[in-house]
Amino acid sequence: MPQSETERLLEERLIRQGISVEREVEATRIVPDSTGADVVLVRPDGRKEDVRAEWLIGCDGAHSTVRHVLAIPFAGETLRSDWFLADVHMSGYPRPDTDASIYWHEEGVLLIFPIQAGRYRIISDLPATAGSTPPTPTLDQVQQLVNKRGPAGTKLNDPVWLSGFRINGRKVASYRQDHTFLAGDAAHIHSPAGGQGMNTGMQDAINLGWKLALVIRGDADKALLDSYSPERSAVGDAVLKAAERLTAVATICNPVAQRLRNLAGHLALGLTHFTRGVAETMSEVDVHYPNSPLNGPHHGGLVPGARVAPVEGYPSAGSGPRPLFVLFGARDPGVEQLLKMYPDLIDGNVRPALQDDVISLVRPDGYLACSASDIEAVSAYLDRLTSPS
Ligand SMILES: Cc1cc2nc3c(=O)[nH]c(=O)nc-3n(C[C@H](O)[C@H](O)[C@H](O)COP(=O)(O)OP(=O)(O)OC[C@H]3O[C@@H](n4cnc5c(N)ncnc54)[C@H](O)[C@@H]3O)c2cc1C
Repeated sequence: MPQSETERLLEERLIRQGISVEREVEATRIVPDSTGADVVLVRPDGRKEDVRAEWLIGCDGAHSTVRHVLAIPFAGETLRSDWFLADVHMSGYPRPDTDASIYWHEEGVLLIFPIQAGRYRIISDLPATAGSTPPTPTLDQVQQLVNKRGPAGTKLNDPVWLSGFRINGRKVASYRQDHTFLAGDAAHIHSPAGGQGMNTGMQDAINLGWKLALVIRGDADKALLDSYSPERSAVGDAVLKAAERLTAVATICNPVAQRLRNLAGHLALGLTHFTRGVAETMSEVDVHYPNSPLNGPHHGGLVPGARVAPVEGYPSAGSGPRPLFVLFGARDPGVEQLLKMYPDLIDGNVRPALQDDVISLVRPDGYLACSASDIEAVSAYLDRLTSPS
């Protein structure tokens, strides 16, 4: 699905919740401090607005002003090769519209991803040129490269987007400083080989969103926010490493190593188990938080920090407009009492147990918070979450 379509759907959902996105409003001055931030906003007509915010989220992209103001290093490297990306229409392409394909040629790699009926994304590497940005390719140049590296008889037309880019792998060490957070490309950028940039950024926002909402509403202690950076930084590290690995394998130059890679690739990509693993990694449904400071007690089955897949017939945790924890387990008097104690923290709709005789508490973002044989352990977990530290 094209990123513009994802953005349209998200914006429509925001509008349905009564929130509008104010485009072309620029934060020209940002002064964060230990309790919030002073920000100057400039509107499209030039009007200025001074804002004092208790919390600030820098989701302002790879060149993040917020990151620069905080002087947080964006450590990493830029690869010494040029790449291009072309969203085009194609005819005569021999592969089904459901398959992504990698073409390994001795001069470089060519990747073809179907986007919509007849529309594809082509990514390929080229020898590095001088200058800070690689040139934008023409449709003719892309066609020549497809002729050389890709399937025969494929005809490109109607380009939607052509661009040249360099691959950066960079990340901040900490996603938070006092009352200011970083999320998305402001915190991590990497090779688009795995197509995970936007997903990773959206998961940052989901992870931070429910925690900030509970803290602002007074339903959880501020300490809840301490888990944002360790949880998401670990995911950022893993995504960067996977993208680096994929890029390194795709751009091997040594002819012997190329032959070995091609053979191993053919074998592995023919295995359903392997391709399912790749799909789970790329879609990020395999993301989990095994070392999170938020993980509570464990009693059999899924371990805290694991993702709880949506249960058929029940909406997934976090799918409602308010962030709520969800209980899975028997509806005994202890559970009723807990629901009464925390009506703004736990969904009143208790789901059937994930495992016999186990009470599981699932976070608003769908990850297991804790599991126990008795409700007291769950209650103690929630007491810790809500009591001032
Ligand atoms: C060539 C290429 C291909 C890609 N392909 C994929 C893909 O297939 N799948 C995928 O998931 N990801 C892909 N990505 C990555 C994806 O585009 C990014 O990860 C994603 O857009 C990051 O979102 P973001 O909101 O963090 O940052 P951005 O999309 O950069 O948004 C930041 C926003 O902040 C605004 N802003 C910046 N400074 C200020 C300021 N001072 N005041 C106000 N506003 C400001 C900007 O105008 C912008 O609207 C690709 C990226 C590239 C370059």
